[in-house]
Amino acid sequence: MMFITICIPMLSLNKDNLKKVCREYYIRGYSNLKRDDLIEYINRSLMEDEKHEVIKRNEYQIIKKEIDAAFRKVKFQENEKIFSVIVQDKSIKKIETKFKGFNWEIYSQVAINSGNVDDPYRHCDCRIGKNKGFCNHFWIGVIYSLKENYLKASEWTLTALPSDFDQKLSEVKVIKGRKGEKQLVPSSFKKKKLPEPDSKKAKNVTKQWAISSHTDPHKQYTVTLYKNKTWACSCPHWVYRKATCKHIRECQSKQYY
Ligand SMILES: [Zn+2]
Ligand SMILES: [Zn+2]
Repeated sequence: MMFITICIPMLSLNKDNLKKVCREYYIRGYSNLKRDDLIEYINRSLMEDEKHEVIKRNEYQIIKKEIDAAFRKVKFQENEKIFSVIVQDKSIKKIETKFKGFNWEIYSQVAINSGNVDDPYRHCDCRIGKNKGFCNHFWIGVIYSLKENYLKASEWTLTALPSDFDQKLSEVKVIKGRKGEKQLVPSSFKKKKLPEPDSKKAKNVTKQWAISSHTDPHKQYTVTLYKNKTWACSCPHWVYRKATCKHIRECQSKQYY
C-alpha cells in the first residue's frame, strides 16, 4: 500500500517538477537523467518523510490538473472527446472508456467498487496511465463510477479531491448512447431531436435523418432528402462547400431505403 501512496503521485509529475524537487532537496547529478530515471533517482535519494513532503506538496496540484481536464472532457472542451463508455464486467464494475482525438484513440479501463477503493484496477494507454498514474482518463472512470453509484464519494479516501469536485460532479450525467453504450455528458445536454421542418419546406422533404458526427458522437447533423431527389446536410462540409459528405453517403447507402 505504501508504494501506491508514495510512487504514484511522483509518477504524475512532469520533468520540470521533478527537477525542481531535486533542486529543493539538494540532490546532485540529475541533469542528464530521463524522466523515469529521475523518478527512480529521487526515490532513492530522499528519506521517507521527505518523500511524503514532496507528495503532499505536489499531490493536490497533480490531481486537480487531471480532474479538471476530465471534467473539461465531459463538457466537450478538450480536443480529445469521450467516445463511449462500455461496461465490460458488471460484477466488478469494470468499464472501458474510449477516447477519440483528431487522429488518435485511447482506451482506458477502470474497475472501482467498495472492495478495492484503496487500489482500484486501472489500465490506460496514455503516458501517465502506463505508469499507473491517475490520468484524466482514470478520473473519467471515477466520475462515471460515482455517477452510477458503484461507490460513494465518501468512500474515496485514496487521494484528496478538489473542493469543487461535488459541484462539478453534479453538473454531469450519464446517458444511454445510440447503440446501448453509455455516455458521460453535461447535465444540460439534450439529445438532439429532428428539427420540425417548416410547413412550406416540409412539403418538399421526403425524409430526414439525424446522423452522429464520426469524430464527436455528441454532435449530430441533419440529412435531408428532398422530393426532387436532392440531398442536403447541416454539417459544415455540405453547408460551406456543398460537397457530398459522409453523412449524406451514409443515408444514401442501402440501409436507409
Ligand atoms: Zn490515461
Ligand atoms: Zn454532412
